[in-house]
Amino acid sequence: MANEVCVHIDTITDIKEPQQRVCEECIKTHDQWRHLRTCQTCDATLCCDSSPNQHASKHAGSSGHPVIASAEPGERWLYCYPDDAFVEY
Ligand SMILES: [Zn+2]
Ligand SMILES: [Zn+2]
Ligand SMILES: [Zn+2]
Repeated sequence: MANEVCVHIDTITDIKEPQQRVCEECIKTHDQWRHLRTCQTCDATLCCDSSPNQHASKHAGSSGHPVIASAEPGERWLYCYPDDAFVEY
C-alpha cells in the first residue's frame, strides 16, 4: 500500500480473495444478503452492512479482525473497522 491509511491496512500486502461468493453465515440459516466482504485476517466471506444480518460487522466486533475487502466483482477496496479507514487498491 503506497499511502498510509492505518496500521492495519498498512500491514496488508496480499489481498485475500473470497473462496466462495456466499455469506458463510447466511447460507446456514437460508438468509439473504446484498453484498459480500472478505475478512483479511481469517479469509471469512460475510455479508455487508446493507444486508439484514450484517455478518461482516458482527465478525469484526466479535473476533477483533479489523480489515475487510470487498468481495464484489469489480470492487477493489479495503475497510478498517476500528479506524473507519477506507482505501482503494
Ligand atoms: Zn486500522
Ligand atoms: Zn450474512
Ligand atoms: Zn476474520
